[in-house]
Amino acid sequence: MRPTLLTHPACLDHLTGIDHPERPARLAACLRGAATAGLVPDTTSPPAIRADLLRVHDAGYVDRLLALAGAHGALDDETLLTPGSVAAALQAAGIALDGARRLMAGQARQVLALVRPPGHHAERARGLGFCLVNHIALAAAEARRLGAQRVAIVDIDAHFGNGTQAIHGADPRVLLIDLHEDDLFPPGGSLADRGVDAGEGFTLNLPLLGAADRDYRALLAGLIEPALARYRPQMVLISLGFDAHQADPLASLRLSTRGFGELVGGIAEATRQHGGDRLLLLLEGGYDLAALEASTAAVARALQHPPALPAVEPGVAAVYARRVAAALAALDAGLAREEP
Ligand SMILES: [Zn+2]
Repeated sequence: MRPTLLTHPACLDHLTGIDHPERPARLAACLRGAATAGLVPDTTSPPAIRADLLRVHDAGYVDRLLALAGAHGALDDETLLTPGSVAAALQAAGIALDGARRLMAGQARQVLALVRPPGHHAERARGLGFCLVNHIALAAAEARRLGAQRVAIVDIDAHFGNGTQAIHGADPRVLLIDLHEDDLFPPGGSLADRGVDAGEGFTLNLPLLGAADRDYRALLAGLIEPALARYRPQMVLISLGFDAHQADPLASLRLSTRGFGELVGGIAEATRQHGGDRLLLLLEGGYDLAALEASTAAVARALQHPPALPAVEPGVAAVYARRVAAALAALDAGLAREEP
């Protein structure tokens, strides 16, 4: 079964300004990449409505946001709204919901959702960092509502997914694995940050410095695969940020185009084995147009033909061994607490 590509032209109507990094050309580049890998866009997903957003956002924030439909506004210095922005965010949220529904209904095994604005920084009561609505949090909530006992979100965007953690960090039924650049926007996401209350142990943050393909390969084998094998989610969702690419102007991580294919191909394989064979990938950041196009093509190909992964280098694995062991021990403790 070929991956389903969901997108919509309304996502191009969020016009942030010619000098803003989160611009429509990003999505166009991703769509070109997906097309070269043979994916055909499906634009039939309905937009989300107010009641949908209330599943993960406060009513006050949702109403403030909806009041800005068709208008100019700003949620912070860099999160700007123009007349098409709210419609774009509702469409992106609707695509995330539709992706989760198609996977739960067995109509697809892999859904690649190419949308903008991005979403993983949006918290319950505020949008920030280019994000208006937290689409991945919404998709996870929808999967849960439709019967998935547990879901896992793997956030590979270079930035810490603060919003997703703020929304789901207390929920043991949502496992969060977040690989991000240390000390980049926004604050938080430290190794010691492992979720709160009943969710303690179900948030695995791993801040990185200058990580390249070999580092991600070690973390795929050492952290992501073992965590999914222990947790056994019924759906895996990927916050697909391409700003961990070595060419990205906003971050300093060093994944190559091939590295993105290997990483996502590896997560897809782990999803087949341990994740209910349901995978939803949602576009988050990534700001170099050539890297976006090539990496999207690499990811779309990897979903169809999982690439052979080079062996993990023992020296690289050793660098992460202590941190990975601590994160998995926290997950084990959380799982032991969950047992009746
Ligand atoms: Zn990012």
